[in-house]
Amino acid sequence: MQTGSKTDSCTPQDDLVIPFYLENANSSGRIIRLGESVQNIIGGHNYPDPVAWLLSEAITLAALLGSALKTQGKLTLQTQTDGPVNMLVVNYAVPGEMRAYAKFDPALKDAPFSENDYDSASLLGNGHFALTLDPGNDKDRRQGIVALDNTSLSGAAEHYFEQSEQISTFLRLSVARIYQKGTEGKAPSGLGWRSGGLLVQKMGIGGGDDASAPQDTIDLRSKSAVKEEEGGYEEDWNRVHFLAATVENHELLDPLPPLENLLYHLFHEENVRVLPETSIKAKCHCSEERTISVMRNFTRAELAEMIEKDGNISITCEFCGSHYSLSPDQLKK
Ligand SMILES: [Zn+2]
Repeated sequence: MQTGSKTDSCTPQDDLVIPFYLENANSSGRIIRLGESVQNIIGGHNYPDPVAWLLSEAITLAALLGSALKTQGKLTLQTQTDGPVNMLVVNYAVPGEMRAYAKFDPALKDAPFSENDYDSASLLGNGHFALTLDPGNDKDRRQGIVALDNTSLSGAAEHYFEQSEQISTFLRLSVARIYQKGTEGKAPSGLGWRSGGLLVQKMGIGGGDDASAPQDTIDLRSKSAVKEEEGGYEEDWNRVHFLAATVENHELLDPLPPLENLLYHLFHEENVRVLPETSIKAKCHCSEERTISVMRNFTRAELAEMIEKDGNISITCEFCGSHYSLSPDQLKK
């Protein structure tokens, strides 16, 4: 196994995604662990526990997928459904900057706390799951949509890859709210959300240079096409899928053991190779300037209706809760 740098097991290894590939099994993947970043995105919203839990899952999934973008670009994950959590929106922007929000039935506020063991399928209900990839250069923006039919978020993503990209995929997402020891001068001790995840994909002849594959693995795909013709990788994939499924939630959530150790523990027989990691942090890109440019799309009559008692128009960013109070003069075109 190769690792980029030596890691010790005393410093928490948090808020990062590590891509890897399995030399002996023609598969690639990414492993993720989020602590402060997911807590910072969720923490500002004061959502009921089931909503925070589900949105944390969506953030973890979007980070796993978005981190395949290397130098620029954005990924948006969105659900629209008829369940108690009727909308999730997560933005990922290179280099690992994330924000998210949810819309939900206010009755959920009374839902009993269930030790973080919620059922994402029943929280979501029926509707659709969409991934939008904006590569940020001259390449076209792409959107793929799959139906959510009483499906978990990870089930929907696996289905998305099977259907839109013809890539066999294993996905595990874990979220918990646990007691976390604060860091001096940075974060207080207390209950906080943490998450982890594992994505493994078969590198078949299908697919392409999309969000599903690290750039580094695309070269391997051309080699894999030869072996595919020579008899296929089905056996390799079945073995890797079996090994991946042995990962336990606590292994993905524990902040201390280096993620490389977990990869080695899971896949040591497959000759696992680790690629450079991506750090994840909470960051919203809203600003007064951007808000003004969006508001200038409204007609003068529409803006007049939004003016409040103080004579200004008040806008709150749904992602981060920032307030912008704009005077009608600022919105003149
Ligand atoms: Zn914002």
